[in-house]
Amino acid sequence: MVLNELGQKISQALSMIQNAESIDEKVLDACLKEIVTALLQADVNVRLVGKLRDNVKTRANNADKGAGLNKRKIIEKAVVDELSSMLSSGVDEKKLVDLKKGQPNVIMFVGLQGAGKTTTCTKYGAFYKKKGFKPALVCADTFRAGAFDQLKQNATKMQIPFYGSYTETDPAVIAAKGVEEFKKANHDLIIVDTSGRHKQEDSLFEEMRQVSAMTKPDLIIFVMDGSIGQAAEDQAKAFKDTVEVGAVILTKMDGHAKGGGALSAVAATKSPIVFIGTGEHMDEFERFEPKAFVGRLLGRGDWRGFVDKISEAVPEDAMKEELMDSLSKGNFTMRILYEQLANIQKMGPVGQVMGMIPGLSNSGLFTKGKEKESAARIKMFMTIMDSMTDKELDCPNPKVLQEQSRVMRVARGAGCNPYCVLELLEEYKRIRALIMGPGGKGKGFMQQMSKQ
Ligand code: GDP
Repeated sequence: MVLNELGQKISQALSMIQNAESIDEKVLDACLKEIVTALLQADVNVRLVGKLRDNVKTRANNADKGAGLNKRKIIEKAVVDELSSMLSSGVDEKKLVDLKKGQPNVIMFVGLQGAGKTTTCTKYGAFYKKKGFKPALVCADTFRAGAFDQLKQNATKMQIPFYGSYTETDPAVIAAKGVEEFKKANHDLIIVDTSGRHKQEDSLFEEMRQVSAMTKPDLIIFVMDGSIGQAAEDQAKAFKDTVEVGAVILTKMDGHAKGGGALSAVAATKSPIVFIGTGEHMDEFERFEPKAFVGRLLGRGDWRGFVDKISEAVPEDAMKEELMDSLSKGNFTMRILYEQLANIQKMGPVGQVMGMIPGLSNSGLFTKGKEKESAARIKMFMTIMDSMTDKELDCPNPKVLQEQSRVMRVARGAGCNPYCVLELLEEYKRIRALIMGPGGKGKGFMQQMSKQ
């Protein structure tokens, strides 16, 4: 994703502040110049970029007046805050995402043709299915030939029931019937996919109004192609002014420089972005929360997103609590590492998950752009751990694991070079230190959690 490049450039700019002996106007200006250039290259609106620069400068200058404050930290925090607020609509998007189970949530999807609406409907259903919902899909797209077949195909793949018609031509009638049928069958998430058009036109808006009147959706989600950059602002405004758009999903946020432009442009219309699509596959779909997104963009990790991802893969809440409990007590054993690596394998693209953990990008476990090799490496480490005894897996002291006879025995059991075992131990120690923080007892982890 080109946005990763943006994150790297901003991180590099911030390291100018970290590495400078003292922070004067010149250093701050040089750092801000780099950040501004990176944002403009990602197609963010020049007005928003200017505002960010001015606000960071004001906060840095105010820091001069406060005694004993760490200016480096203040500047870094100002940049993170300003980036988050630039990507934020100011609306609490969490409420729009936390649907209530056991009641029929009717969600209507609207958008232009080709935006990725049909694909996103299924991704959305699959996301909630993993959370224990009972989703169903209704195809009310009678405009595009093959739309019903596409939805059917996606829905079948994800094992989500669907409804549509090859003969009925009125989309509002199909939508109403589908919603009624699924309500009777006690589905608690009914997703209605509507027709698009190549461009905004009256017939599209009229059809949306009719479908909405017949199905009375709890939420209308506008799906928009994120690769259109700043043009997103006008499109989002037009849809918002015509139908009651409650939330936005930006698609195609993979591999396009204009992603930064679309994110900030949509937020500027005060429309909450709730998810982003990051690829054609069903699992290339992520929650969007400005603060967590900025954290990941800058390589600072997204612990909450990581723990959420774990609970998606392993739905029992107990598991999540157990993990949080262990980590908060400073208990990061080899067994926890093993269990988390097993979860990561279940969670979908390894890069997406590893990016959530600070320090793991470009680590011994994961190299950006080398997802296949990284997945093989994780597998090798797990094979090595399979050769450890229960005592070793639960051992609270990493030093014990380094004893030569143990290393040799584990290597023999795993059929690998002892050097690979040592590599795993190094990686384990590094992650452990990262999670436990400088003072141990899970401070690193808990501090990250409390910031999110
Ligand atoms: P609709 O006309 O709005 O229903 O759009 P479709 O769901 O048919 O999607 C149009 C094209 O965009 C298809 O080729 C999808 O595979 C592709 N697409 C959808 N979402 C994404 C995404 O997040 N990333 C990428 N790269 N392609 C996407």
